Amino acid sequence: MTPKVLFAATDTAWQEYEGHLGHALAAAGIEAELSPEAGPPETVDYIVYAPSSKLKDFTPFTRLKAVLNLWAGVEHVVGNQTLRVPLARMVDQGLTEGMVEWVTGHVLRHHLNIDHALSHQSGEWVRHVPPLARHRPVTVLGLGALGAASAQALAGLNFPVTGWSRTPRDVAGIDCLSGPAGLEEALARAEILVLLLPLTPGTEDLINAAHIDQLPRGAVILNPGRGRLIDDDALLAALDAGHLGHATLDVFRTEPLPPDHPFWAHPKVTVTPHIASETRPDTASEVIAENIRRGEAGEPFLHLVDRDRGY
Ligand code: NDP
Repeated sequence: MTPKVLFAATDTAWQEYEGHLGHALAAAGIEAELSPEAGPPETVDYIVYAPSSKLKDFTPFTRLKAVLNLWAGVEHVVGNQTLRVPLARMVDQGLTEGMVEWVTGHVLRHHLNIDHALSHQSGEWVRHVPPLARHRPVTVLGLGALGAASAQALAGLNFPVTGWSRTPRDVAGIDCLSGPAGLEEALARAEILVLLLPLTPGTEDLINAAHIDQLPRGAVILNPGRGRLIDDDALLAALDAGHLGHATLDVFRTEPLPPDHPFWAHPKVTVTPHIASETRPDTASEVIAENIRRGEAGEPFLHLVDRDRGY
């Protein structure tokens, strides 16, 4: 029987994805009925899902085989008690490439002190020589699809990179630490700290006053992970006290970031509006199609979320 795929996201996303998904399904040898309208829910086999979707109750979807999340982060859906089928998150080459570019770009901005050049076009010849990358330790918290790729790109530029994860990892070229015992060392080394952790009960507010204190004086924080990884008040206090040099933030507790939020006007904060990396319709459609192919062939799904772990 032809599987029915419900695309549960915004109308704009549907316009972006419809053609790519159709092509990707055909290329995977799957003839599927693809629609942004559920119709009778008991006829739907797969749901391609985004957090913007109004769909919150999966109970009526009695034939559902899997929910395929369009985003890498799943905190908006992982605790949904009505969801009783496998949940896959997005691991996509385009998403990874975008994140690597955002992370390396912002690390290099701070490492080279590009801001100094931008603000010193005064006619005065003041030479400001940055250290080599090999003398600038960077720590990446989170060594998953995005964290490991970003860490390796930085190591490729000669930064000494420490990575930190929940369980022990082995990533070529990276000094890997793990668990609560590894965190103190990972923070103590970080002249630049990159947060690429998922939001879970174990990571919420991880970057609090005590952990910020463990960073070297003048450290820079880059957060393309999730806003709630950081205690905002502790971050602002550490920036104001001079303990932290700068924070470049892509994600926030409330998005869009309210116009009166102190981050916007703070001289040591750079805001990017959750654009560090976007799921790319062309490459992401291939990932979704492959998971539908697997579902139809009775093969294990890729990129499954561990609901107990929360990511
Ligand atoms: P993965 O699930 O592949 O990796 C998560 C990593 O975090 C793993 O290394 C995991 O450890 C580690 N981790 C999880 N919990 C803990 C913990 N309690 N203590 C220490 N380490 C922990 O995720 P991705 O790399 O694909 O994505 C990371 C996050 O990036 C997403 O969840 C999302 O929030 C964010 N993101 C942001 C985007 C943006 O545009 N700003 C775009 C896409 C994603 P272990 O290896 O042991 O499992």
